[in-house]
Amino acid sequence: MKIGFIGLGNMGAPMAANLAAAGHAVTGFDTVAAPPAGVAQAASAAEAAAGAEVVITMLPNGAILKAVAGDVIPAMQLGAVLLDCSTVDVASAREVAAMAEAAGLGALDAPVSGGVGGAAAGTLTFMVGGGAAAFATAKPLFEVMGQKAVHCGPAGNGQAAKICNNMILGVTMIATCEAFALADKLGLDRQAMYDVVSTSSGQSWSMTTYCPAPGVGPKSPSDNGYRPGFAADLMLKDLRLSQAAAEGADADTPMGALAAALYARFVEEEDGAGRDFSAMLPRFETRTRES
Ligand code: NAD
Repeated sequence: MKIGFIGLGNMGAPMAANLAAAGHAVTGFDTVAAPPAGVAQAASAAEAAAGAEVVITMLPNGAILKAVAGDVIPAMQLGAVLLDCSTVDVASAREVAAMAEAAGLGALDAPVSGGVGGAAAGTLTFMVGGGAAAFATAKPLFEVMGQKAVHCGPAGNGQAAKICNNMILGVTMIATCEAFALADKLGLDRQAMYDVVSTSSGQSWSMTTYCPAPGVGPKSPSDNGYRPGFAADLMLKDLRLSQAAAEGADADTPMGALAAALYARFVEEEDGAGRDFSAMLPRFETRTRES
């Protein structure tokens, strides 16, 4: 397929490289980053999009996505698909899909989970919102870039699935970290804590797969000095998106709101910026009820 790829950062570059390695003709554009091996360089987003059957975007936020969509939609050929893989707010995803569809294009919002490692290995999971025909067009590309693509319904539903998942993840990571810190203070060995909770009703992905305690459970960023992994800054971004969506939908999400406030404090006032989101555990270790 002829593919335009816009946003060649930590995630976009390996995704574009995998598509090129699978034999697709990929032309890329980024305002800063150079294209990876196998990907041709365009002089602008519109140039990357011209003549492409699918235009993929992997950008930092909804405002940038809307600006890029404004540039590429007029350049795209009728019937082509605009496939946004960024994590953005549900409202921006729905606006961009409406703009694309009004111009005779297909549109999908398909945020990912799996991180930079999953992007490089081609094992991402895509949560996809948009029409069935556009999903069918993009399916072979999802199969190259990932191992699973779930069609979640109409435009915006991919972003909805992503932020609901990550709201659960933020809350369970905090709960797991505060429980480890409490267990420490009660004199409970971390390995014993893991052995019980990972096979009991308190278990979650945060405990069993991504354990925040170093030396316990499978290898995770805690075993690597809390280098990300999944940065606390990105968790904060996703928690804020979930709170914006909850406000828009008048949904009561008290735990999500608390998690967003705690990650904001960790990243913006404490030492959380640039650390993995599981570094909440050393944060709790040093604290008392008063601090
Ligand atoms: P990144 O900052 O490394 O990459 C974004 C790229 O977009 C940068 O190279 C930047 O130069 C480029 N860019 C910005 N404005 C542009 C424009 N107007 N035109 C063209 N290029 C432009 O970010 P990333 O880690 O690759 O993340 C991309 C998206 O994926 C984000 O929405 C993020 O939330 C999401 N995501 C990231 C991860 C992760 O672990 N990094 C995991 C899941 C989802």
